Amino acid sequence: MVCSVETVSEPEIPKPVPVAIESSTSALLIVDMQNDFCDPKGKLFVPASVSTVQPLKNLLSKARKAGVRVFYTQDWHGPNDPEFAIWGEHALAGTWGAEILDQLKPEPEDVVVKKLRYDGFYGTSLDHLLRLYGVKNIVITGTVANICVLHTAGSAALRWYNVYLPVDCVSALTDFDMKIALRQISFLYRGILTTSDIIDFRP
Ligand code: ZN
Repeated sequence: MVCSVETVSEPEIPKPVPVAIESSTSALLIVDMQNDFCDPKGKLFVPASVSTVQPLKNLLSKARKAGVRVFYTQDWHGPNDPEFAIWGEHALAGTWGAEILDQLKPEPEDVVVKKLRYDGFYGTSLDHLLRLYGVKNIVITGTVANICVLHTAGSAALRWYNVYLPVDCVSALTDFDMKIALRQISFLYRGILTTSDIIDFRP
């Protein structure tokens, strides 16, 4: 059979479902919610990220109240990083653009993992720290859906973490990109699609 990209039809994406997960074995992971991606003055602004800030704030406060560990990834590049050939300069180490959004500022007890590539696990201490804290379930949020969120979710699933994706806390540059991410995460990586208001962190 010959593949025809011209006539491809969209596979069904599962509807978000309520989720109840144990606080002590769960982590909330916020991917790349940095000024360069989430502020209109940023170098690689993702307009859809703006509407994810409030649901993310709600989820963050729910997670903190329940004692869920909070992790952030922070895209962090040196000058002349090869990724700049693809995307242009962004998230340059030490600049305003690389900082995490003020509205989602990490607390001192949170873990912030600086990363060089799309995958938050690649070349970072993320896996080590998650295992140290006994984390089994990762609620993955942030941007960009089909880039750093997808690769981080995939990398988590390959390590057999359970992946939960609140779709209202994830953003992409286009609807097509968003759908690709949801399809891959739900089908290939068996991540559970949910929304921020129907995630319950239980004792
Ligand atoms: Zn980057």
